[in-house]
Amino acid sequence: MTMPGPHRGSALALTVLLLGGLDTGGPALEIDVAFLPVEPKPGSFLQLTVSPRSSTIRSLHGTLGGQTVIFERDSLGLWMGLAGIPVSATDSIPLTLDLEGADGVVVDTMVYLPVHPSDFVVERLSVAPRFSARPDSALAARVQREIARAGEVSDEALATRRMWSAPFARPRSTRVTSRYGTGREFNGVIQSRHLGVDLAGTTGEVVRAPNRGVVALVDRFYYGGNVVYLNHGAGLVTAYMHLSEALVTVGDTVRAGTPIGRVGATGRVTGAHLHWVARYGRVTLDPLSLEGLQLEAFGAPAE
Ligand SMILES: [Zn+2]
Repeated sequence: MTMPGPHRGSALALTVLLLGGLDTGGPALEIDVAFLPVEPKPGSFLQLTVSPRSSTIRSLHGTLGGQTVIFERDSLGLWMGLAGIPVSATDSIPLTLDLEGADGVVVDTMVYLPVHPSDFVVERLSVAPRFSARPDSALAARVQREIARAGEVSDEALATRRMWSAPFARPRSTRVTSRYGTGREFNGVIQSRHLGVDLAGTTGEVVRAPNRGVVALVDRFYYGGNVVYLNHGAGLVTAYMHLSEALVTVGDTVRAGTPIGRVGATGRVTGAHLHWVARYGRVTLDPLSLEGLQLEAFGAPAE
């Protein structure tokens, strides 16, 4: 079993595919598909590397669980991309690959990648969650507009060239007070899942950009309060919620460490903290799962 260049020596799950040409007697397009983490779980970012064993790959498009995956080719002819496992995934997730070999062989294929069980925490509530009155139509429409606006940022990120190369830092170095995926259970039924990471902080403390990106959205949302969304390109978005204040405006370019806002308690929260969100495309993922990847393998972004 060979490992693709930049990952050599590291533990990687690997799938070998023999594609095309087999029944025609023509040349087969043989590829390795490697992925990190080795045991993907619901909510994990996934780093994919597709490498040809023979010939070269002229073009590569893919999807994971239906979400477009942006692949880019490095100087060695390896194709790398990010993807994400939706929080609701179980057992396996389909990866489709649409390849064109240098010799003109065109192949569409699908492989199932394993999804390992989550280790989400469940908070059992002894008191019924306060069911707010059915939101009036104006509020429901507002929330829908905000969801749609966030979705547009994801689409922009899929259409933006990659701006990051180094690994992502945390926006604050404080304690994690609620993990991604934490379920709130009442009467044995999960009422909701926490689709971000909470980092401790008091009002006014600085929140920093985790990597290079462009400010895509600054707004005041019903649930999120004062929000900042960063488009990092190549499908990757991060967002910062409940801020007391945003320190950037739409269109600003930020680097890792740039102050982008201040911790607050705006929106639907009971106390000051930072709610940190990460998305690949329209899939909301665990921001901390960025830390297990080898993003340096992508190299410097194209200028
Ligand atoms: Zn939160």
